[in-house]
Amino acid sequence: MPGDVSDIGMSDDLSPGLEKRLRQSAEDTAGTGRPDQDCLTELRTSGLLATAVPREYGGVGGDASAVNRVVERLACLNPSLAIMAFQHFAVTSRIVEWGTTEQKSALLPRLADGVYLAASAWSELGAGAAKRLLSSTADRRPDGTWVLNGAKSFTTSASVADLYLVLVRTDGPAPGTDTDTGYGAAGQTFFLVPAGNPGLATDLSLDLVGMRGSATGFVSLRQCVVHDTDRLGPQGRAAQIIAGVRESGATLGAVALGVAQAALELLVDHFRRGGQLDRPVVRDRLVGLATEVESARAVVERAGRRSAPDPGTATLHSKLHASAVAERVCLEVAGMLGSTGYNTGSAVNRLLADARAVALMGPTNELCRELLAAAWQG
Ligand SMILES: Cc1cc2nc3c(=O)[nH]c(=O)nc-3n(C[C@H](O)[C@H](O)[C@H](O)COP(=O)(O)OP(=O)(O)OC[C@H]3O[C@@H](n4cnc5c(N)ncnc54)[C@H](O)[C@@H]3O)c2cc1C
Repeated sequence: MPGDVSDIGMSDDLSPGLEKRLRQSAEDTAGTGRPDQDCLTELRTSGLLATAVPREYGGVGGDASAVNRVVERLACLNPSLAIMAFQHFAVTSRIVEWGTTEQKSALLPRLADGVYLAASAWSELGAGAAKRLLSSTADRRPDGTWVLNGAKSFTTSASVADLYLVLVRTDGPAPGTDTDTGYGAAGQTFFLVPAGNPGLATDLSLDLVGMRGSATGFVSLRQCVVHDTDRLGPQGRAAQIIAGVRESGATLGAVALGVAQAALELLVDHFRRGGQLDRPVVRDRLVGLATEVESARAVVERAGRRSAPDPGTATLHSKLHASAVAERVCLEVAGMLGSTGYNTGSAVNRLLADARAVALMGPTNELCRELLAAAWQG
């Protein structure tokens, strides 16, 4: 059955040994703040990166439900790896939707077999969460090539990705003057830039509180020359592509869900080891937390099924709800662990920081609320 996680043999791919290594890597990278290359190699060779690639290009042909389930499963073990996979799936899906025949043939098989890991470089300091005030530019030269210049911030998988989907200003109204879609602006264009381009440089000097193994850093474009065939989608109309992203049903809520599940499992394990699972007060609070996690699962699954009357609205709600649940669950787990949790060695503190990151990621929760409220105004 296409689109089902069983279709990609997840239970085989995530063997107990691999699960253990991914968990351990989450702990290790929380300390180092650097990506774990061995763990990334495991991800690249796991077959999971093929999830969003259509079968005719060597992929699994998974739908948004499949993407959300893979991301949730990864997030439960290693949230940093999950956001890297999420960005990979997002770029893959944009190429499936908007790529030319040549781009699809050249890129999708490599994105499926893990030779290519993809990253999104949209954010910039000062651009605003809605990316309306981009400073990065692309200028067309007489020979038809483009020259990209600018500085991108908060790019997940910076330095480890092989392909970057960058958002730049090309033509159209002055930045910030149009108000059409609420995310992105007219006159912005996407380009696919390979890591080997001499005009692209990465920098991992960001020292994030959470998602510390995600290689979230800076990408700078200096006289970065690309061909018009590297443009993804119509010139000046990236906002239209961005507006379609939430319609897909793939949601960062899946990351939050995996984090919340991991925190809950941590707490259950703590009480089990302490022989306290039969205490009524413990049972009562554990069931309360488990119910919250289930509510997050329900909204993430609904977004992935695209069964709501407005799938885009369901996707935004899923991110808002699941990220709020993840933060609440992690906080309550930290409290219930008592002084055991108030220890740098306790995974709950890492999970709490990772949960916070989801709310800050695009579209940020505040921007999600703006987009939802704007829908009421038509
Ligand atoms: C762990 C992590 C990974 C990330 N990975 C990526 C990535 O791979 N690629 C990428 O391009 N970006 C990435 N980002 C950036 C993210 O997507 C946000 O767009 C970016 O962080 C916005 O920056 P800010 O919160 O500083 O926004 P600011 O624009 O400085 O906003 C400040 C505050 O105002 C709110 N705000 C701003 N504009 C609006 C608006 N129009 N409506 C409502 N509220 C608004 C914001 O939500 C925020 O609370 C990542 C961020 C994090 C934390």
